[in-house]
Amino acid sequence: SKGAALVTAVAQRLASRKRQVDETLAPFKLSQEQLQLVKATMRAGLEAGLKNKGPSAVKMLPSYVYHTPDGTERGKYLALDLGGTNFRAMLVKFKKGLQNNTRLYHKIYTVPLEIMQGTGEELFDHLAQYVSDFLDYMGMKKAHLPAGFTFSFPCEQTAIDTGILVSWTKGFKATDCEGHDVVNLLREAIKRRNEYDLDIVAVVNDTVGTMMSCAYEDPQCEVGLIAGTGSNACYMEELKNIEKIRQKKQKTEGDEETPEMCINTEWGGLGDDGSLDDIITPFDAEVDHNSVNSGKQRFEKLTSGMYLGEIVREVLLDLTRGGLLFRGRVTETLKTPGIFQTKYLSQIESDRLALLQVRSILQHLGLNSTCDDSIIVKEVCGAVSRRAAELCGAGMAAVVDKIRENRGLDHLNITVGVDGALYKLHPHFSGVLQETTRVLAPQCNVTFLPSEEGSGKGAALITAVARQKRDR
Ligand code: BGC
Ligand code: MG
Repeated sequence: SKGAALVTAVAQRLASRKRQVDETLAPFKLSQEQLQLVKATMRAGLEAGLKNKGPSAVKMLPSYVYHTPDGTERGKYLALDLGGTNFRAMLVKFKKGLQNNTRLYHKIYTVPLEIMQGTGEELFDHLAQYVSDFLDYMGMKKAHLPAGFTFSFPCEQTAIDTGILVSWTKGFKATDCEGHDVVNLLREAIKRRNEYDLDIVAVVNDTVGTMMSCAYEDPQCEVGLIAGTGSNACYMEELKNIEKIRQKKQKTEGDEETPEMCINTEWGGLGDDGSLDDIITPFDAEVDHNSVNSGKQRFEKLTSGMYLGEIVREVLLDLTRGGLLFRGRVTETLKTPGIFQTKYLSQIESDRLALLQVRSILQHLGLNSTCDDSIIVKEVCGAVSRRAAELCGAGMAAVVDKIRENRGLDHLNITVGVDGALYKLHPHFSGVLQETTRVLAPQCNVTFLPSEEGSGKGAALITAVARQKRDR
């Protein structure tokens, strides 16, 4: 009959649509072998970065942090944190007596896009103004506080309080900062204001701050991970393996057997030498091409919140052009960069959400979808975020296995301090990350510990230790 023929035709059309969507998403589905290969590539990147031979894709930057905290840290510190789009100022107090007794007061400032991408002087003048506002708010303009500066970009450090910006990431491109010491830039901006004094004692990567704050609660924490706007990890490395600072005095603190230093891996740069080309899809290539730092941070662009939404958008554009989505209509909205922020991806992928709700999120973003459309959109989001979590897990497996081998152990128990919206807000990212790490590093028992106010508190802890040493 005619009716039956129509039903068959519709079913066939749906099946063929499904097949074409699956084909488009296939390159995002990584096999165990591919993930093992990423782990090995990361491991090689870590090793190469520790050597002296010029720049490498994985930068492996010394942090001049030699210890995780021991609980004797005391006093009042200012922690300043420039990360993604926010600047946070925080007052941290470590109290005597009770261990782990900290108090925090903080304020968040949004850094406007034109400031992120204007001149360096304007950017740092802005930061100095935020600090001024915070000190007013706390009534501490006259206090001359010791400060730790969490600066979440790759910095070449030669001491705890100097950090030369190697290159901006995450959409920042303020001029005249790369190649300059960011502590100096901040000090000069404060001097220009001529209104308050700060004693900037330490500059700290957010991964290092996160590791330190978690280590304050759990002494097994010797790794830090950020899965947020950007992607990065740090870990405690044996000083003797850090060839690039071996020529300088291999400083030992006290009389430990194996002196260590925390290394900021900057693993987001993995693949900048082409080593990930086999897994990079045309959609990733397009996202990279449209970014402010094309060719750089290739691993980060597969794994972090700033880019996942853009990858999703590229796939949706392709499916729409192929007539598989949104009735084949490419709208202005779909052509708008940045529409899929992490929070929307997280909502779309939430299992508790009915398809109707997915549709209403898409509607809210300006995309009119049918029910079938919303199923496909959810699938695309799932494929992109799962790959991100798996790649992070492969990277983490390389890091923890390196620590295990450094120590000549068959089995290692270790804690990773974590921060970032992708880890904390996304419904599946953390689970997939943990599972992948477990499978790829079977000789390590890895506990992931989410940090609370991590990088700021960590910077304050580092400041406390650095100042004690300096004043001794
Ligand atoms: C930066 C890292 C930072 C990470 C997470 C990356 O873009 O290069 O220094 O740790 O983002 O914020
Ligand atoms: Mg941050």
